[in-house]
Formats: sequence, C-alpha cells, structure tokens
Amino acid sequence: MPELPEVEVVRRGLERWVAGRTVAAVEVHHPRAVRRHLEGTDHFIAALTGRTLTAARRRGKYLWLPLAEPDGAPSGQALVAHLGMSGQLLVEKPSQPDETHLRARFVFTDGGRELRFVDQRTFGGLAVEETGEDGGLPTRLAHIAIDPLDDTFDEAGFSAALRRRRTEVKRALLDQTLIGGVGNIYADEALWRARLHGARPTDRLTRVQVHALLDGVRDVLGEALAQGGTSFDSLYVDVNGQSGYFSRFLAVYGQADRPCPRCGTAITRESFMNRSSYSCPTCQPRPRARRS
Ligand SMILES: [Zn+2]
Repeated sequence: MPELPEVEVVRRGLERWVAGRTVAAVEVHHPRAVRRHLEGTDHFIAALTGRTLTAARRRGKYLWLPLAEPDGAPSGQALVAHLGMSGQLLVEKPSQPDETHLRARFVFTDGGRELRFVDQRTFGGLAVEETGEDGGLPTRLAHIAIDPLDDTFDEAGFSAALRRRRTEVKRALLDQTLIGGVGNIYADEALWRARLHGARPTDRLTRVQVHALLDGVRDVLGEALAQGGTSFDSLYVDVNGQSGYFSRFLAVYGQADRPCPRCGTAITRESFMNRSSYSCPTCQPRPRARRS
C-alpha cells in the first residue's frame, strides 16, 4: 500500500506535470474507479471536461486537484484521488500503449502527456467533490489529521493531544485522527529511532520523548520521500507500495533476527493488530505493566 511519502511524491509529480492544464476529455474504463462519485460516471466526466486542474494538494493519503471554470474562476470543486492498495497516477505520452489495469484517462487541451489512473485491485478511486470557494480541503477529508510533512503541522498541539490519550504509543501513531499518514512501517522505524517500545503508554511519555518520536517520524518520512522522489526522472509516477525503495533504509521493519544497526541485538517480531511490530529489545525495552 502506498504510504505517506509515496503519496507526497505523486503530489509533487502532479503539481509539476498536471497543474495548470485543462481537461479536454475523460474516459472511465471501470466503474469501480469512480464509485465514490455518487452521481455516477457520466456526471463525473461532465464535471471535469473543460475544467482546469489548478494545483495538486494532499491531506494524509488523499490528493486533490482544485478545478477552475473556463474563465479561470474557482469552481468550488476538486478532483479527489485515493490510491488505495495498488493505485498509480501516471503521466505519459498519448502514444504509450494502455496499461492492462487502466481505469481512467485524462486528455488535455494542449495535446501533451495524458494523466492515467491505473489500479490493479481497484481499492483506490476518483471523485469530484466540494471544496469551498478557495479550492481548500474538501469537506469529506476534514477529519483527517495534518501530517508531519505538512508545513502547518502543529507540533505542540500533537504533543499535548498524544499525552492526553490513554493508549499505547504505536496505536496512537496509527490513529489518523491524531496524526495523519503514518503507516505500520514508518511507525516501527520512528519508534526505533526514538528508542521507544510501541506498547509504551502515551500518558507517561515525557515531552522530550514525544519530541524524539516526532523527529523520528519526520526523519523516516523525509528519507523515504528523498528516495521516492527520484522516480520522476523517468516521468513514471510509480506509487506501488511493493517497489523496492523502502528496504534500503529500514532498521527494524521486516528485519526479524537481524542485528539492530545501533547495538547489534537481534530484532524481534511481535504480533500487533493482525500485523507485526518489529523492535530492538535492548534499545526499546517493553514497558513494565501499569499498576492498577
Ligand atoms: Zn538496539
């Protein structure tokens, strides 16, 4: 599944290659790709044709491209995209053969590169949604917390909210209403950097520990972003979560029985919410049980 840095890479690609262009035609090749557009496929196509995609924005793993009318005025709507498990947004020459799992195609009035939505498993999707006049956050995305790659992320607010919770720190990191876009892999890596076990109770974390945790989140997301960013050289906006660039910098995730890069202790795997957690038992000791 694409995680936050990959979605940010896609946003930057859309900003560079798609923003400012006017839609000449839209093809929808599979109705599931636009199932979140409740008025149906024909309405989706009509809502986009002739409109200009003015920018590319992101909240968590959602992307939105505000739309302008032919006279340049904001339309109060945006094209919203979610990549789901396997979705890709590709910017390609019209002469490029169609992908097997091509779900939608956007052709632009300048006759240049097309935008294609390709999604093998069709958990992702596209919709046109209301944004308010300024092309700001679509109403439906309002509940998703700002993430630490966003310039407006409120560090003090996050720290206070985290320490008010009575939960385990890894659960809190995965809670999209508290902090956006941190998936299982990045949570484990950030906890290792902050030397915290994921079961540590949030209400007992010190300010210094929360600060270290946020630094860990930012560092690990930033490194992934820097590595993912190179994929634009080929104009291929690859957001397949299976692609290899995670593995180059992972300290603990998926590294069971390998030595901790910091202290050499074997990394351990524990089950966690039907998935796995990886940590170093020396750098990240389990918390003692809370006294009742
Ligand atoms: Zn260690």
